[in-house]
Amino acid sequence: LSLISVVSIMTFTYYRKGVMHEQVLPPEDLAFASELEAAIAHQEFYLVYQPQLDLTTGALVGVEALIRWRHPQQGVVPPVKFIGIAEVTGLIVPMGAWVLKAACQQVAAWKDGALSQVKVSVNVSPIQLRSAGFHAYVQQVLRETGLAADRLVIELTESAFVHTDDKGTAHLQALKQLGVKLAIDDFGTGYSCLAYLRDIPGDYLKVDRSFVNDVPGKERSEAVTSAIVVLGKNLHYQIVAEGVETQAQADYLKSLGCDLVQGYLYAKPMEAGVLQQWVRDRQT
Ligand code: C2E
Ligand code: CA
Ligand code: CA
Ligand code: CA
Repeated sequence: LSLISVVSIMTFTYYRKGVMHEQVLPPEDLAFASELEAAIAHQEFYLVYQPQLDLTTGALVGVEALIRWRHPQQGVVPPVKFIGIAEVTGLIVPMGAWVLKAACQQVAAWKDGALSQVKVSVNVSPIQLRSAGFHAYVQQVLRETGLAADRLVIELTESAFVHTDDKGTAHLQALKQLGVKLAIDDFGTGYSCLAYLRDIPGDYLKVDRSFVNDVPGKERSEAVTSAIVVLGKNLHYQIVAEGVETQAQADYLKSLGCDLVQGYLYAKPMEAGVLQQWVRDRQT
């Protein structure tokens, strides 16, 4: 009995934006979910890596691993098309496990030059984070790949913290005990809560692209962006600006004191081999 035939006859209970939902998946979503399940089995997923640079020195300090689906008929499918269904069906758990392992394996395999030092950021869904055995799995992946724990950055969106009671924070503290780093992704969107910023043992704060888009120039976005940077810095986060597309944005973010940047201005996400070439080209 496959997972999908089980899930197709039951009601899903899941959390989104902090609210419990119960629903039956519509048939087209179920069909898509079984395609997704098959894709996991057939290893149709691959990772691309987007450089994260030190805004002051331009040095490559990290890469963010982003999943892609090489669909046999439809070509490359971006994650916005399938992460939602993967979360609702729970398929995000095996999919996310694959992402974590593949990313750590790849980064551990880079032995020369700048890539031998980079950190790797991996997006972890709230459902994956709360799944049984996640902590043990992270530990196992670090052991099996030999990647130094402090080179792994787990990116969490704020919805991962919605249920953060004492137990939730303990869970994150336990991850930190492994030596891994935590990033708060997409900060400023969704259900932002300043208490999370205060309470979560995070290392990196990623300023969402929607703010970066509008600076400099839009006064109200400038006010929010600079306040996020100041607050984050006072709480000892490293500030990462994402979605940087123009030099004007980079200059403005630098003037605020942002630490790291990521965006099309510097590089798009690339497959591992292309990234290696990109690094070589930069050196010469
Ligand atoms: P995210 O974590 O906020 O990732 C950043 C997204 O912005 C990526 O889209 C990246 O390609 C895109 N991006 C980077 N620089 C620029 C820029 O300068 N301009 C613009 N317009 N976009 C830029 P992508 O790869 O399509 O991923 C979308 C979202 O899907 C991610 O947003 C993340 O929430 C999710 N995602 C991707 N990979 C994974 C994964 O392995 N696991 C989980 N759970 N979620 C993932
Ligand atoms: Ca991310
Ligand atoms: Ca983000
Ligand atoms: Ca985002």
